[in-house]
Amino acid sequence: MTSSVGGARVCIIGAGCSGFTTAKRLLDHGITFDCFEASDDVGGNWYYKNPTGRSACYESLHIDTSSTRLQFEDFPVPDDWPHFPHHSLMHQYFRDYVEHFGLREHITFGTTVTAARRRDGGGWSVTLDTGETREYEALVVANGHHWDPRLPEYPGRFDGVLMHSHDYRSPFDPIDMRGKRIVVVGMGNSGLDIASELSHRSIADHVWVSARRGVWVLSKYREGKPADKMMMPPWMPRKLGLAIARRKIKKSIGRMEDYGLPTPDHEPLSAHPSVSIDFLAKSASGDLTCVPAIESLDGDRVRLADGREIEADVVVCATGYNMSFPFFDDPALQPDSDHRFPLFKRIVKPGVEDLFFMGLAQASPTIVNLAEQQSKLVAGLLAGTYRLPGRGDMEEAIRSDDAASLAQYYDAPRHTIQVDFARYVRDLKRELDEGGKRAGAAAGDSARVTVGAR
Ligand SMILES: Cc1cc2nc3c(=O)[nH]c(=O)nc-3n(C[C@H](O)[C@H](O)[C@H](O)COP(=O)(O)OP(=O)(O)OC[C@H]3O[C@@H](n4cnc5c(N)ncnc54)[C@H](O)[C@@H]3O)c2cc1C
Repeated sequence: MTSSVGGARVCIIGAGCSGFTTAKRLLDHGITFDCFEASDDVGGNWYYKNPTGRSACYESLHIDTSSTRLQFEDFPVPDDWPHFPHHSLMHQYFRDYVEHFGLREHITFGTTVTAARRRDGGGWSVTLDTGETREYEALVVANGHHWDPRLPEYPGRFDGVLMHSHDYRSPFDPIDMRGKRIVVVGMGNSGLDIASELSHRSIADHVWVSARRGVWVLSKYREGKPADKMMMPPWMPRKLGLAIARRKIKKSIGRMEDYGLPTPDHEPLSAHPSVSIDFLAKSASGDLTCVPAIESLDGDRVRLADGREIEADVVVCATGYNMSFPFFDDPALQPDSDHRFPLFKRIVKPGVEDLFFMGLAQASPTIVNLAEQQSKLVAGLLAGTYRLPGRGDMEEAIRSDDAASLAQYYDAPRHTIQVDFARYVRDLKRELDEGGKRAGAAAGDSARVTVGAR
């Protein structure tokens, strides 16, 4: 076994919520690690104005996941929290977690992993921006997947400001949006939030929201409770659960057309949920207008797919993110051009079994505490209490898991890594039990071989 200069077995890239909860799990198991964080603090995306420029938090951002769904199982959120905390509370919660479990001293801040290369025969050479290269037995990638903005490429030239939602902080930062004619592209969660905020009469001259297709805009609440607490339980057959949930959604919010929105070409929950309390009212009040996709740009005009033209000063593209691993030079360790990146239990790439991806899923309702669960597999594997199945079995499991998880969604790059959190955790537990038996059997076999050799 090889190790780093300081003797650590594992390298963790990133100390956002996925990285630091993995660090905690390894610490609990006595597995030595180095955790490198490019920024000067933990928190990743939830560190507002993160000096790395990698946080997409805007000043008004509240998480769309309710507090008890996002909390870590061994570190509950404070009792006095609102249902949907502001980003500042999220960041404080993360900092409190790190202090509580004594993790800060185990994280090397202000240090970026610039390259990670797998050695022949396994193990990793990890190069830091300090110029140093260290050797590890295993690598944990927790670098997040909401920091590399995906910008559409429109034909033509735009004379106004064209920006990604990643750079939006407030109606006054990075530019003063007062009196501006603004087109927000996309109806995901950031698009809905930003359009709702800018469409206040005291801010934009007008806001248009451009989208390729109509979207079901869901409420954060159902029957007076956070809607994500009412998600269908994992024991319920998927089709039945989905049918019930769709009926309830339609009954409670009605038709999108009645709010002045385009008719969705799909059922509710066939897309990653777009959730907003404000957006429906803003649209129905005429404060914003939904329009089709942008076809081209021409000076101060935005030309739409239906031939209409809008005079605009600003285009804000809330068009999502690429999965990116800039420290890998091996193309096999990058997603394909359709944004697909198949992984066993969304953690392990078959054939590269000393590499673990944490939080690399679009889990509904949350990613925040996903790695807390995933790290059980990683720690078990490294501690020898869990054993992966064979490569063929992993590939088969990926196919069947993806078929089950993705069936409800329409085919699009944004839906390639969707999972239902509760079902995922249930399946992961089963896999941990199975892998525990495999590890036990393997230990028995090797004991027999050892005894036989005497
Ligand atoms: C606007 C917005 C709203 C969101 N709302 C929700 C929500 O409502 N609910 C939800 O569950 N999720 C939401 N998310 C998703 C969000 O990504 C997760 O909540 C969470 O931040 C994922 O944590 P992470 O640790 O995986 O990644 P990140 O938070 O991105 O952290 C990654 C960390 O890795 C560090 N890093 C990256 N590369 C390197 C390197 N090479 N070397 C060293 N350090 C490195 C970064 O500096 C960062 O600190 C939202 C995302 C956005 C953009």
